[in-house]
Amino acid sequence: LFIAFEGGDGSGKSTQARLLAERLTSEGHEVLLTREPGGTDVGEQLRSLVLDPAHAPIDPVTEALIFAAARSAHVRQLIDPALATGRTVVTDRFVDSSVAYQGAGRDLGTDTVAGINEWATGGLHPDLTVLLDVDTGTAATRRADREQAAGGTGPDRMESEPEPFHQRIRTAFTDRAAQAPERYLVLDAGRPAAEIAAEVWGRVAGLLGR
Ligand code: C5P
Repeated sequence: LFIAFEGGDGSGKSTQARLLAERLTSEGHEVLLTREPGGTDVGEQLRSLVLDPAHAPIDPVTEALIFAAARSAHVRQLIDPALATGRTVVTDRFVDSSVAYQGAGRDLGTDTVAGINEWATGGLHPDLTVLLDVDTGTAATRRADREQAAGGTGPDRMESEPEPFHQRIRTAFTDRAAQAPERYLVLDAGRPAAEIAAEVWGRVAGLLGR
């Protein structure tokens, strides 16, 4: 079983991905919890290259290809082998992040970006994508709080983009979910984490056939 968490920065994806992985593990499942862009050595290096504001500006096409390259390493080195041995894979971001951030946010076109990722992943799609949808104002407040708690390393290259960029991303995520509703669980992420986790578990337990 392959499950992806998607949403904007500050939507609470990482928390929910972790809570689901913990629950699966406690129920006796073998789990791989991973994140994009990263998860592999090459992925982590590409992540820092593309997100660190200290680096020179990156052209949007280059940016899209870097994320796709990181994803192909992630799929081929980690996700495919884990699925092949029967593990449940939970990833914090997958193809929809590229469709939203580079396709809509950077205006490259959602179909174009979906296409290069189809190639990069060998056509792998999650069995379920949990989309954590939250209004961009709440997400910005959460990012600022997290930033302060972390001691102020500063926003990454995407987080520092203006409001309309984050709006385009939010719309692109929900549009994509609407195209294949059976493979998505869209949740209002403005609610308490425990409430969201319970709904996620309800859906995943159904997929596991219990
Ligand atoms: O999930 P996390 O917040 O760690 O993501 C790191 C950053 O990478 C985010 O700022 C996100 O906006 C960005 N990103 C992106 N395009 C992707 C995947 C992630 O711009 N395809």
